[in-house]
Amino acid sequence: FVNLKKEVDYSYPIIIEKGCIKNVLEMYHNSFYLIDSKVYSLYESFFENIDKKFIFEASEENKKIESVLEILKWLKDEQANRSSKLIVLGGGITGDVGGFAASLYMRGINFIQVPTTLLSMVDSSVGGKTGVNFENRKNFIGSFKQPEKVFIDTAFLSTLADDEYKNGLAEVIKYSLMFDEEFYEFLLSNRNKIAMKKNETVMEMIYRCCKHKADVVRQDELESGIRKFLNFGHTIGHAIEVDSNYSIKHGFAVAIGMYLETLVGVELGEVSEDTLDFVKKILSLYGFDYTYKIKNKDLFINAMMSDKKIENDGLVLSLTNRIGAGKIITGIKLDDVVLILEKTGVFN
Ligand code: NAD
Ligand code: ZN
Repeated sequence: FVNLKKEVDYSYPIIIEKGCIKNVLEMYHNSFYLIDSKVYSLYESFFENIDKKFIFEASEENKKIESVLEILKWLKDEQANRSSKLIVLGGGITGDVGGFAASLYMRGINFIQVPTTLLSMVDSSVGGKTGVNFENRKNFIGSFKQPEKVFIDTAFLSTLADDEYKNGLAEVIKYSLMFDEEFYEFLLSNRNKIAMKKNETVMEMIYRCCKHKADVVRQDELESGIRKFLNFGHTIGHAIEVDSNYSIKHGFAVAIGMYLETLVGVELGEVSEDTLDFVKKILSLYGFDYTYKIKNKDLFINAMMSDKKIENDGLVLSLTNRIGAGKIITGIKLDDVVLILEKTGVFN
């Protein structure tokens, strides 16, 4: 019997610093770079001295196995070997695709995440989930592959579109509601600084999110328990994305999902009523509209039940009861949820 787990050290540093991309380019100038095409065109001069680069057009359509194969072929043509590193620069799509390619090339090479969207800084770059969409299923194939390091350069946020920034803020709010009352207060009192992307405040905000994500992943890498807390707002949120045919962005759908799931929690007697007020308060402050009319009830219900959200014949919801007190409720009857949602008028 060989205990493999002990031999492997999964810990890795997360560096949060404005301008740290310069250090990355200097330290790893011989490495292989996978770069989001928008980031490349905005920051082209950064990459003048980088020889080995693959410019990737990030979109959900391009988040596919064929893109991974192209990257693998490029790595081979450029003679990457087992000790080569892949530096992945971009949002969550580029990070997921690049991480997946790194996990496959010669059975896995090291990769470094340089997230450039708020969502990827606070969520996807930490935790080691990689993958692509497959046959109309989101993130259906992939692997768990932790990066060697994560470099978060907050300067990239200056060029990010407002709705992309807000998209990430929904996940930020999620961490506060699930894990951290003090952070919730921080978000309430720093709304303007965060909106203006004041660096010190944004760095603190990102740090808190990464810390919570890392704590959760450390305890439950493969999502059998506490990692499910990160799904708060995502069961109904995902169904809203599907129902809107993805015209509503992930974060905006998660914001509505956090509101509706909390409401369901209150009606089921699992969540206190003031929790709903806390949720509404922060979502309103950050300008999220959490009202929604479902277009196709059957499609919505099917999407809500998809993949990991059903266990032992019941729906699983990750909820918070008051701020910072996440909990997982299993075995919820789908009919009950539908009845509660019906009462709110979302189906009319
Ligand atoms: P994205 O990668 O599509 O980036 C959003 C847009 O911003 C793109 O158009 C991109 O070109 C542009 N962009 C990136 N950086 C920029 C910058 N600095 N300035 C200007 N424009 C910039 O989307 P995202 O929201 O970052 O990530 C979403 C993806 O992440 C989804 O595919 C989702 O499945 C995945 N995800 C993965 C995990 C995980 O744990 N692996 C977690 C959450 C989400
Ligand atoms: Zn999410």
